[in-house]
Amino acid sequence: MNKIKILHMYADMLDLYGDSGNMEIISYRCKMRNIECIIDKYSIDSEKPDFSSYDLIYIGGGADLEQQHISEDLQKCGDDIKSAYKKGTFLFLICGGYQLLGKYYRDADGVDIPGLGLFDYYTIAEPNRRKRCIGNVIIRTEFMGKTVDILGFENHGGQTHGVKTPLGSVLYGHGNCTKSSYEGYFEENVIATYMHGPCLAKNPEISDYIIKYCLNRDSNEKVVLKELDDALEKDCRQVMIDRLLNK
Ligand code: GLN
Repeated sequence: MNKIKILHMYADMLDLYGDSGNMEIISYRCKMRNIECIIDKYSIDSEKPDFSSYDLIYIGGGADLEQQHISEDLQKCGDDIKSAYKKGTFLFLICGGYQLLGKYYRDADGVDIPGLGLFDYYTIAEPNRRKRCIGNVIIRTEFMGKTVDILGFENHGGQTHGVKTPLGSVLYGHGNCTKSSYEGYFEENVIATYMHGPCLAKNPEISDYIIKYCLNRDSNEKVVLKELDDALEKDCRQVMIDRLLNK
């Protein structure tokens, strides 16, 4: 039986707009395919696990205050996360988690929260707290050879700069900065995005990209995922996309 091992970090503190739901969706989509899915949790003061033993590390989003609270602990895990990523562990990061794996996040008070510096981007929050990027967001991206329009919900003051390989181009909403053309950050084993929602509920293609990557990363026999019936998920997404784009 195939198996995926996930480490969900700071689920008790970084869980805006149902971010933990993303793990329920991965787990459900694995169950439907008879793939074993183990989800371990890690939070402040947990015993440090062997990060490299995980196929996927997941970090959700949070308010500036929560980001400050976890910052010191996250730094302590920095080398382990870096080494897991280098060995091919997939990193899935939402909003606050996305920001903290870059160089730094300067919050709305101008206080710098150091990032892990895995990636070159950095984030500076808009000092005017009323000027946040809030609302639905649609981005166009490529997954497994197909162009897909992804739908999510963003709410961030942070403006992320220096992203060389974005996840997609913005069709509606803001993205990495106010009225940006691009959203998120992408590498073969990294998806970082501002999309809450939870993002995977509306976008089965991203879940399957991640599951497929995790199953195939150590194996010579490439797994072909069993197709699931995603008609409802895709219809729900399309209704919203059509409404937002006035189709
Ligand atoms: N606190 C960060 C910001 O406002 C991240 C917010 C979030 O995770 N939604 O930009």
